[in-house]
Amino acid sequence: MAEGDKQQKRFTAWKRCAIVLLMLLVIIPSSISVILMFQMTGLRKDVRELQNEVRIWNGSSEQEAYTENMQLGEISEAEATADVVALENKLVWDDMEQNAQKWSSSSGIRRVYLTFDDGPSSNTDKILDILDEYGVKATFFVCGNERYMEEYQRIVEEGHTLGMHSYSHKFREIYQSTDAFVEDMNRLRDYLYEVTGVESKIVRFPGGSSNTICENDIMQDLIAYFAQEEIPYYDWNVSCGDAASSYISAERIAKNVLDNVWKYDSVIVLLHDASNKDTTVEALPMIIEKILESEDTVLLPITEDTTPIQHVQAN
Ligand SMILES: [Zn+2]
Repeated sequence: MAEGDKQQKRFTAWKRCAIVLLMLLVIIPSSISVILMFQMTGLRKDVRELQNEVRIWNGSSEQEAYTENMQLGEISEAEATADVVALENKLVWDDMEQNAQKWSSSSGIRRVYLTFDDGPSSNTDKILDILDEYGVKATFFVCGNERYMEEYQRIVEEGHTLGMHSYSHKFREIYQSTDAFVEDMNRLRDYLYEVTGVESKIVRFPGGSSNTICENDIMQDLIAYFAQEEIPYYDWNVSCGDAASSYISAERIAKNVLDNVWKYDSVIVLLHDASNKDTTVEALPMIIEKILESEDTVLLPITEDTTPIQHVQAN
């Protein structure tokens, strides 16, 4: 009887051991899989960001980066066509180094112009709040979007410059011909006047004058057209890099600006005002604070009298 009891106990102990062992065999591998899965997702994101950077460094267009992100389901097709293109190619940057002298002034005061492309968006109010907080005026190169009528008005009322960027921002349509572009721009000019009572006097070509979608002779025609209209076009000499991929950290955006802003005496900084660019908004206070700390640097809105920075000029 006692022997039977012992055997029973031993059997129960073994059973427990077996169950615990079995549970460990299940729990440990599944926990490891979950951890690895999270790490893999993070790594894939990093790889994608790096690929985008390499692509831009190699001189291919942001369009490709966007198209790829779109295929990966990162952004919608609308954003992929709306928010694009080119220009940060190496050629342009080499030119910029050569142009550094030309963009220097003798006044000893560095003028920095923060410019926001593609708005208004769900982030416009946040951007305006930050600018207001620091008492800084900037420039918005806007598109046509009837959802944000109050934001256009706020831009004007708070003393920022309202620039034109195209109504539709659809590269394949607007850059088809000079007429198509002019028609789209006139639509935007009329719309902005109707909403704000202000006639916009400056323009930024979608993708910049050096974009890879618009053919050279059309760009030359457009440059001639705006010269005749006395509407200067503005590119940039510092880019925050926020168009490069669907995700770029706020720290990286701030670093892209703050590493380069001191190279010139007249600096036009490219930033984006878009609903998927929260990190640009997040980076803005860091950028403004560092620039304001520098005694010989001022932050200004672009006006018609601001000397333009242009990647492509009239032949
Ligand atoms: Zn744009």
